[in-house]
Amino acid sequence: MKIDLRSDTITKPSKGMLNAMMQAKVGDDVYKEDETVNALEARVAKLFGKSHALFFPSGTMANQTAIKLHTNPGDQVICDKYAHIYNYEGGGASFNSGVSCKLIDGERGMFTAKQVEDAINPPDFYHSPLTTLVEIENTTNKGGGACWDFKELQKIKKVCTANNLGFHLDGARLWNALVAKEETAKDYGELFDTISVCFSKGLGCPVGSVLIGDEHLMQNAIRIRKILGGGMRQVGFLAAAGLYALDHNIEMLKEDHKKAKEIAIVLEKASYINKVETVETNIVIFTLNDKYGDEAFLELLKNKNIHISNMGQGKLRIVTHLDYTSEMHDSLLNVLNLL
Ligand SMILES: *Cc1c(COP(=O)(O)O)cnc(C)c1O
Repeated sequence: MKIDLRSDTITKPSKGMLNAMMQAKVGDDVYKEDETVNALEARVAKLFGKSHALFFPSGTMANQTAIKLHTNPGDQVICDKYAHIYNYEGGGASFNSGVSCKLIDGERGMFTAKQVEDAINPPDFYHSPLTTLVEIENTTNKGGGACWDFKELQKIKKVCTANNLGFHLDGARLWNALVAKEETAKDYGELFDTISVCFSKGLGCPVGSVLIGDEHLMQNAIRIRKILGGGMRQVGFLAAAGLYALDHNIEMLKEDHKKAKEIAIVLEKASYINKVETVETNIVIFTLNDKYGDEAFLELLKNKNIHISNMGQGKLRIVTHLDYTSEMHDSLLNVLNLL
């Protein structure tokens, strides 16, 4: 039995999801004639209380489009040093939008309104890049699935409003935060100008992300998506997976979170552990003491057909997901206990 905990992106569509996909009514989405895509976009927009939503092939493309919507070349984006847009989108912020990032030295990928204030370049000081956008991630990926304090986000929103800055949420794993903190999509829709969400992470879809926002910003999003090569044709087959996931898979995230917490409890007691970071959702990040080296530890697990990620700098990562069964869980806890 292979136990793959490298990421929550490795899931395969379930029978129910595949059925929903096979039965989807489709049309040419570049003409906006795919009724399943239209239905998913309308449903997600409504969920967040925004007027517009647009389907994308990836979270990266949705984020890159958002950055372009909010900025002009030469501008600066404020984000955490752990931000996905800075670390893991291939340098797209500079490639696609010609912007730089002002990195905040946050905690587990999160920062304060005061830190945002301090990071804004004075708009009349023309020697510095013009700050136009603040970007945050919830949950934080490199921060180990941590969830923001909603009150701090409200304070950051005030800073954005006072300084005329856009506010974008990279919500690749926002569904996890909503379930873990019992928050609603509308709470986030009220706070952010644009939000990207992924269907291919915790929700078990093969492909798909959606960018959400109000009309004045989103009217240009479809053009940017076209420029980036993201205009797709009979893509309702994929949107159908998203609709299915909204109906069936959001509540299941609780199970991922529970399993992640149980893994952390076992790790905390293990002889080979230095530190396990607090688990809030489906990501467990930990460091080892010198009983085993990182590589040797990964090899030991691999020999038992268990696969996890090495994040570098001594950090190892386990991510629970929809295809990680209770049987696999019992077997993993057993191995972690015995090592
Ligand atoms: C996965 C992820 C994305 C988008 O990734 P794609 O693989 O392009 O869909 C964006 N932000 C965060 C925080 C992510 O974890």
